[in-house]
Amino acid sequence: MKPAPFEYAAPPTLDEALAILSENDPDEVKILAGGQSLMPLLNMRLARPELLLDLTRIDELGGVRALDSAVSIGALATKRDVEDSSLVRDRNPLFMESTVMIGHPQIRNRGTVGGSMVQADPAAEYPAVAVALGAELVARGPGGERVIEADDFFITYLTTSLEPGEILTEVRVPDLPAGTGWSIQEVARRHGDFAIVGAVAMLRLESGVCVDPRIVIFGASDRARRHPEAEALLAGERPSAALFESAGQAVAQSLEDPTDDVHASADYRRDLARVLCARTLSEAMERAEGSGA
Ligand SMILES: Cc1cc2nc3c(=O)[nH]c(=O)nc-3n(C[C@H](O)[C@H](O)[C@H](O)COP(=O)(O)OP(=O)(O)OC[C@H]3O[C@@H](n4cnc5c(N)ncnc54)[C@H](O)[C@@H]3O)c2cc1C
Repeated sequence: MKPAPFEYAAPPTLDEALAILSENDPDEVKILAGGQSLMPLLNMRLARPELLLDLTRIDELGGVRALDSAVSIGALATKRDVEDSSLVRDRNPLFMESTVMIGHPQIRNRGTVGGSMVQADPAAEYPAVAVALGAELVARGPGGERVIEADDFFITYLTTSLEPGEILTEVRVPDLPAGTGWSIQEVARRHGDFAIVGAVAMLRLESGVCVDPRIVIFGASDRARRHPEAEALLAGERPSAALFESAGQAVAQSLEDPTDDVHASADYRRDLARVLCARTLSEAMERAEGSGA
């Protein structure tokens, strides 16, 4: 199918893009970034905007740059830009690993970091690592600039706290603290598919006990979520397979309303969350031990 007819604008600056948004009914405008999620929706006529606002000519929204203790990734930077960034590789190997798990090279060549954040697919890797790392998402709109914590940005299925008329401009990904062990693993039917369930784990070891443990499960419910009950079980404890299995059990118990669809039942997802939690914690511990911290 072909999209329903629409007007098209591709302004060269963010200010012009914001002006176009403010002059139009935001409900009738669709923002286009890499098009990897939006174009199928247009082609299937599930989205029928009056105006397509293409951001891809706005150079100021691209690029990856160093901040004091974070990496700033422009919303229009592609996943390929991230893969090619030695800055991201050095300062945040978890974010790098999540990048190469996304889709296929063709998708990563065009799909943007900002597009994945705003799309807010519950099974997507970037929202999960953004929540685990405590990333900040920067938006510009009629009210000026807003900085939104990742945990407040992702609301539910395909829904964020971006206001109508706002454009996501930047994602600030904090550096992985020294000595942090990390892991991201997922189960998908085929390589490059969205995850059925995935997990992200982070922890440090100090005097032999777990410090600042973080567990995020994605693909299992309406959004990527941390699991404080499981994290509390780990904090201050000596790591062991039994402890990680207990954390996995706590995650499985605390999963609210797991997704039940054609890809997997709710029970299967709950069990995957348990298994992936324990496996990612184990890998994170090995990395923390190997860091020499
Ligand atoms: C075959 C296939 C496999 C895939 N596999 C995966 C996978 O394994 N993991 C994964 O995470 N993703 C996967 N994707 C999705 C892919 O990562 C998309 O690139 C991503 O979801 C959207 O990014 P985009 O730049 O293409 O955004 P677009 O499709 O252009 O836009 C997506 C949405 O975000 C909005 N938007 C985009 N940028 C902004 C902005 N700066 N400010 C405000 N709103 C904005 C758009 O209006 C639209 O609603 C896959 C896609 C395909 C086609």
